[in-house]
Amino acid sequence: MAVTAPSSERPAGTSTPAGGDAPARPDGGAWRSVPRTVARALGLVASTSPGSTVALAVLTLVAGVLPAGIAYVGKLIVDAVLASGGDPSAGLRAVGIEAVLVVALAAVQRGLSITESLLRAQLGQRVNVLILKKALTLDLTDFEDATVYDRMSRARREASSRPLALVRRVFGLLQNLVSLVGVGVLLVPFSPLAVVVLIVAAVPAFWAEARYSGEAFRLFSWRTPETREQAWYETVLAREDYAKEVQLYGLGPFFLGRYEAIFDTLYAADRALTIRRGIGGYLVGLVSTAAFYGAYAWIAISAVRGTITLGEMTMYLLLFKQGQSALSASLSAVGGMYEDSLYLANLYAFLEMPVRVSSGTAVTGPDAADGLRFEGVSFRYPGAASLALSDVSLHIRPGEKLAIVGENGSGKTTLIKLLTRLYVPESGRILLDGRELSEWDITTLRARIGVIFQDFVRYHISAGENIGAGDVSAIDDEARQRDAAERGQALPFLSALPEGMKTRLGRWFKNGRELSGGQWQKVALSRAFMRKGADILVLDEPTAAMDAEAEAQIFEQFQETAKHQMAILISHRFSTVRRADQIVVLEGGRITEGGTHAELLARNGRYARLFTLQAEGYR
Ligand code: ADP
Repeated sequence: MAVTAPSSERPAGTSTPAGGDAPARPDGGAWRSVPRTVARALGLVASTSPGSTVALAVLTLVAGVLPAGIAYVGKLIVDAVLASGGDPSAGLRAVGIEAVLVVALAAVQRGLSITESLLRAQLGQRVNVLILKKALTLDLTDFEDATVYDRMSRARREASSRPLALVRRVFGLLQNLVSLVGVGVLLVPFSPLAVVVLIVAAVPAFWAEARYSGEAFRLFSWRTPETREQAWYETVLAREDYAKEVQLYGLGPFFLGRYEAIFDTLYAADRALTIRRGIGGYLVGLVSTAAFYGAYAWIAISAVRGTITLGEMTMYLLLFKQGQSALSASLSAVGGMYEDSLYLANLYAFLEMPVRVSSGTAVTGPDAADGLRFEGVSFRYPGAASLALSDVSLHIRPGEKLAIVGENGSGKTTLIKLLTRLYVPESGRILLDGRELSEWDITTLRARIGVIFQDFVRYHISAGENIGAGDVSAIDDEARQRDAAERGQALPFLSALPEGMKTRLGRWFKNGRELSGGQWQKVALSRAFMRKGADILVLDEPTAAMDAEAEAQIFEQFQETAKHQMAILISHRFSTVRRADQIVVLEGGRITEGGTHAELLARNGRYARLFTLQAEGYR
């Protein structure tokens, strides 16, 4: 497992300095990548729904041909009226044709918007699933890395709408190009110069589009950390598990103030860009208006001089107008494609982050009787200056129970994270059954370990599933759920819930029942007991929120029922710790004492001091 960019401990949602992760910059390179991104977006859209994609393409082309047809029929009407000589039939026929074409165009446009809506929903879901699947392959180090988090947030925020937008623009571009060809073919007989005027007048609009879309994207990328920070404040302010403390300490206005301050900064930048984009767009629009009226005058003069018919005048005016709007739509499609592909580059950057191959293939070790060994293990968190564990050696044989004692921050949880292979040691080795952890197949390894962390998760699903989650292959096995709940002492209060084990826990959803801290802990403990195949059980302060009696009972029972399991117990209660076969004392990431309870008392060191201190408290 490679180590990613430095990151220190930080709560989820805090930011790194803006621009920490360089997003694709709108430069020549970004333009060159547009065709590739377009191809990928097309692939994505087409594979999401081949039928809709084909429908979209066909309808787009038809929508491209119809406007020129309508303009041509318009000319036929006027000419027929002028040449009618009192017989309206030719004129009426032309009017009828135009009406049919207009109805057809409306149908095609409606069809386009239906297809697009359906495709958008499917594609949004597809991209979100891609992102979430990718998130499942990340490891813990990635989740603790703000850069990776920013990248994921960026991918999640925009990417689901962009592939379709890009494809729509590609088709839109084709549609408008078809229209333009039609316009060009009909306009050339009037004057090729008119076609040139049409095209030249559109250049400034194109330039403006490219410029502002690049700027909008830069803005979006640079402020991802701030947006994420804002989302975090939102969570703190609006979520039930924060509400208690936020209200009690009166933190609401403080966090709201921060939330607003971020908005103000972001808004200022947004506002400036929106205004500049608006004014720029207006000025550029003037150029094409001028071109149109220039052409208008020219066409009118030609009609007055009799070089074109009145019908032709109507048609050329309409063509010029249609040509302008098709051109400006094409150019802004190109600008938009550029913008979309910048956003999509983000998505692909995230989806293509290398997955670390961190698993071996071994499913057994050479010496099953050897149990678990740490040999001179040291570890440092990414970016941390000092070691969180240094030179830790210990040995647990099958069936042995080890207790770890140490003050907060001494490295107890870190040791567990290394054992469960959430992290890899910087130096030293960890062996299970005589085989290094890195050589083990990660799934086999994890299946052998049952663990409850201090900050275990309170799943807002049913009580039974909360326990069953310990062995997802049997998550709905009620007999096993009950058995595990019994061992974790959760059965009595869970059975008393309105729907027993089927009751949803937590307050997030309707009919959910909230448990006390100690009860949740018993649920988490039961979850660890659910792991039948696990022969290593890790309990990181599993009973801190329980009363001493419950804890004593649980451990007594545990020692009886888990005779062949290895256990690692972290606890501040010496009444429990003293029962372990082996106790180690961790201080500042080092093991400073080790032995049985009696040996450590005889040694009269730190353990003995702490034990006496706590024992006195109970006298
Ligand atoms: P304990 O479980 O003994 O209270 P930990 O093992 O959680 O202590 O922490 C040991 C040290 O490692 C502490 O100094 C802590 O600040 C640091 N630490 C813990 N988790 C992280 C992390 N994710 N990133 C960086 N440092 C960490």
